[in-house]
Amino acid sequence: IKNSLYCVDAANQGNPPYIDGMSDILPPFPFDNSYARLPGTMHAGVLPTPVEAPRLITVNAALARELGIDPARLTPGMAAGNELPPGATPIAQAYAGHQFGQFVPQLGDGRAILLGEVVDRQGRRRDIQLKGAGPTPFSRRGDGRAALGPVLREYLVSEAMHALGIPTTRALMAATTGEKVYRDTALPGAVLTRVAASHIRVGTFQFFAVRRDLDSLKALLGHVIARHYPQLADAANPALALLDAVMEAQAALVARWAGVGFIHGVMNTDNMTVSGETIDYGPCAFMDAYDPATVFSSIDEYGRYAYANQPAIAQWNLARLAETLLAFIHPDREEAVRIATARIEAFPDIHSRHWLAVFRRKIGLASAEEGDARLIEELLGAMQLARADFTITFRELSNGGEPAALAGWLPEWRQRL
Ligand code: AMP
Ligand code: MG
Repeated sequence: IKNSLYCVDAANQGNPPYIDGMSDILPPFPFDNSYARLPGTMHAGVLPTPVEAPRLITVNAALARELGIDPARLTPGMAAGNELPPGATPIAQAYAGHQFGQFVPQLGDGRAILLGEVVDRQGRRRDIQLKGAGPTPFSRRGDGRAALGPVLREYLVSEAMHALGIPTTRALMAATTGEKVYRDTALPGAVLTRVAASHIRVGTFQFFAVRRDLDSLKALLGHVIARHYPQLADAANPALALLDAVMEAQAALVARWAGVGFIHGVMNTDNMTVSGETIDYGPCAFMDAYDPATVFSSIDEYGRYAYANQPAIAQWNLARLAETLLAFIHPDREEAVRIATARIEAFPDIHSRHWLAVFRRKIGLASAEEGDARLIEELLGAMQLARADFTITFRELSNGGEPAALAGWLPEWRQRL
């Protein structure tokens, strides 16, 4: 009865009106799983593996309510994967990706299981995913599990990014499993419930492109446009319009990262969404002393994913996305490459526009003037020389402070203000 009630409700309204603690007749997650309805080449059905002793660490009640979920009905079992909420269609998503520039034709959700999607109170479709809920057909030699430290890290950093106004996946719950995971040492296991506009990555497109599976690619393209960029459905060339839209979203995102000194750390193509949300918080951090060469990932020996390299890497990743779309951009491959290349070459200008907007705001400029980029570059140059703290320096400027290291720069700034 519960299930059929849910089905009728979901089909008619998508989003049942919950009142906290009073939604006993409806399931906690009003699922509607569009990705699971896509061709079977794109995902594999898999159940979370139950754990020994699920315990809730925390529930993000505000996010739950935003999703139309009664937080009081979220249980440790749901957060750890022991209890499957009604209406879930658990799947692991297929994707490929370039990792540190090396192409891996099959990655996929090796330790993440998509339970389904809910349509939130604002009508936005959001994925509900368990990260660390056990092995999947994409686990390769991995255990499908996550350790407590990285789960807490992703929870905190993603919620901090959200609070800073930066597009990001969110954290709904975290639970410990009562089991150990074995990395260099034995660590407590945990599961994160991640919420995302979708988990579709540049690498998702690459998975089908490398297999020359145009049918799946076409289904994915249609799904992504309908889900993230519905205004492009009637574009003359939807694939090209999608490329432009993802470029714009990623340019905006990477510029916003720069504005808070954020270094993602692993900008592989499988860790770049097409929605424009930040995803996969691994060896990421917020820079302290300003140095554009700052790297946080211990395995990033050559600084590929250093702070200042993020725009160039975004462009490189977007070129990989463009490659997957060539067949849809123009029937003649050479012509398609010519068109796509011209688009990708425009990325630095698109990014600069966003970057300037972000940094103008950071130094209090309400209008745009000719020398602004130079003024900002000079500030950053002085900060680098003085090894000034990135965040604190901008806070000082906002509070009317006069950092000594910026003595040479302040007069021109005051003039400009
Ligand atoms: P990441 O570096 O976290 O973006 O992950 C890269 C790939 O490795 C993805 O396909 C993950 O699903 C997979 N992976 C990472 N950790 C594990 C794990 N503990 N078990 C299985 N697969 C994993
Ligand atoms: Mg990843």
